[in-house]
Amino acid sequence: MSDFRSDTVTQPSQTMRDLMSKAPVGDDVYGDDPTVNRLQDYAAERMGKQAALFCSSGTQANLLAIMAHCQRGDEYLCGQNAHNYKYEGGGAAVLGSVQPQPIENEADGSLNLDKVKAAIKSDDFHFARSRLLSLENTIGGKVLPIAYLDTLRPFVEQHNLVLHLDGARIFNAIVKSGEDERKLVDPFDSFTICLSKGLGAPIGSLLLGSEELISRATRIRKMLGGGMRQAGIIAAAGQYVLENNVQRLADDHANAMYLAEQLAAIEELSCEPSAVQTNIVYATCLKQQSSALAAALAQQGILMTAGTPMRFVTHLNVNRQDIDSLIAAIKQFYLGL
Ligand SMILES: *Cc1c(COP(=O)(O)O)cnc(C)c1O
Repeated sequence: MSDFRSDTVTQPSQTMRDLMSKAPVGDDVYGDDPTVNRLQDYAAERMGKQAALFCSSGTQANLLAIMAHCQRGDEYLCGQNAHNYKYEGGGAAVLGSVQPQPIENEADGSLNLDKVKAAIKSDDFHFARSRLLSLENTIGGKVLPIAYLDTLRPFVEQHNLVLHLDGARIFNAIVKSGEDERKLVDPFDSFTICLSKGLGAPIGSLLLGSEELISRATRIRKMLGGGMRQAGIIAAAGQYVLENNVQRLADDHANAMYLAEQLAAIEELSCEPSAVQTNIVYATCLKQQSSALAAALAQQGILMTAGTPMRFVTHLNVNRQDIDSLIAAIKQFYLGL
């Protein structure tokens, strides 16, 4: 069985399970869980923010950030492809009464700041109040250019916005860029980290920002039912992956490139290896529906996400052999047609 659908499918290792079973715990709603506190302090210190908050998911961490930054009737500007616009059930609008203002993403995943500027609303009671600019890194597996990040702080200050980053896969961006970790998050007033994507923890995300923001977010987390009790059991896994699984993301990136090169050599598919930067590979079926290919692969215990394009994600539970088997199975599918 090999699963290329997402980097969320990883299984916790025995070491991780052992650490979880032995983690000292307390009631985190009282602030008493030493393992949660250690993780939050460690992450904040490492990434250069004042405070961090352990959350049940990346969706929750983004929602807390938007609700903590904005009031009812405010709006957040984000990419048309942003996870926190497209894939989070409209939570910011539904639960926060915060309106999204989506803007077309550029090919590199960034938002053109001239287009953002044109979408910022003036102070007029007809309009929602433009309050927050939200970006995503990596986005569709792409790393936002460092030179672009450098332009963000002056822009938001000029326009009186706060700046949030959906950093579900920020460590993929950090490892790929080779830059100092903080360089990629310094411009942002807040950012998230998913511990349960490529880093390989079973559950959990972090929201980082100022003490004040995190204190507001903690109140909202409780309101949304996200106050967890002996959460150290899962925070222990988060601590482990931050300490041990960051640099190995480079292996996932190398595997993704290897996979893309193999896919590009199959004439019934279109795949552009030069577009692959981290652990996500897109390819398009030129013959047959991708759903037919996905069904044939599933027969052999190989899972991927069908679509136009289809998506393959590498992670710590797939290796070169799994990729070779995937490629062999795709070739066999086309031979059999
Ligand atoms: C997965 C993901 C999230 C949400 O994380 P969940 O833990 O699945 O809720 C947010 N943003 C991005 C970019 C993601 O890939």
